[in-house]
Amino acid sequence: MATDARADGSGREPIIVLEEVNKSYGPVHVLKGVSLSVGRGEKVVICGPSGSGKSTLIRCINGLEEHQGGRISVEGVQLGPKTLSAVRREIGMVFQSFNLFPHLTIKENCMLAPMEARGLSKAEAEERSLDYLKRVHIAEHAHKYPAQLSGGQQQRAAIARALCMQPRIMLFDEPTSALDPEMISEVLDTMMELAESGMTMVCVTHEMRFAQKVADRVVFMDQGAIAEVGPPDRLFNSPSSDRLALFLRRIL
Ligand code: ADP
Ligand code: MG
Repeated sequence: MATDARADGSGREPIIVLEEVNKSYGPVHVLKGVSLSVGRGEKVVICGPSGSGKSTLIRCINGLEEHQGGRISVEGVQLGPKTLSAVRREIGMVFQSFNLFPHLTIKENCMLAPMEARGLSKAEAEERSLDYLKRVHIAEHAHKYPAQLSGGQQQRAAIARALCMQPRIMLFDEPTSALDPEMISEVLDTMMELAESGMTMVCVTHEMRFAQKVADRVVFMDQGAIAEVGPPDRLFNSPSSDRLALFLRRIL
């Protein structure tokens, strides 16, 4: 709300800025003029019904999807064909399906991009890989292949792999939705530790406990637009719209 400086990101230097972003798949208008500013170090949780455009929105932020109207800038650089690779360098992404390479060990999964995209030597990439695998508490599994690990361990490896590129921003798209219930908290704990480290994070998740604890702001999306945005306490305890109230009743 206007009285909360953080409610519009105004208390922080903006690092991700979306202005009137539009996106269609053929005739389907998926994002309808979305504007959002995320401040440095801010944690934003995006929630909303299935099909409301959450994945499309965060995929547009790192250019995995091209937007058709409006502007997206990251660290002051406007996203476009010429700046795509520069913008992507700043951003790590973690998906619902962990997307690890099955034929590589966890350690090798983490070494690949730093060697290929950042020019690290094998020894440097290995050191960095083990460093981040330690931070997500799975260094002891470094030599294993993804299939030898639990879903929670694989997702933590995927987080480590993204961190190995030393991004300034981390995007998460329902990172715990594919996990068995007993593995959800180990991934959320890892994400909370990352949040405490000061990382700028945009997380699509319906884990309201995580949102309550970590989010500076929660964005509620509905039918391709931001229907409500504000601090988690206000959104969850006194939603302004019937749509959000209904959504919360369904998921809580
Ligand atoms: P959410 O993540 O909130 O469930 P999505 O961003 O995945 O929503 O999808 C929003 C809408 O866009 C849905 O109606 C979906 O069917 C449509 N959509 C998503 N990806 C594609 C695609 N590649 N081609 C066509 N339609 C798509
Ligand atoms: Mg989605």
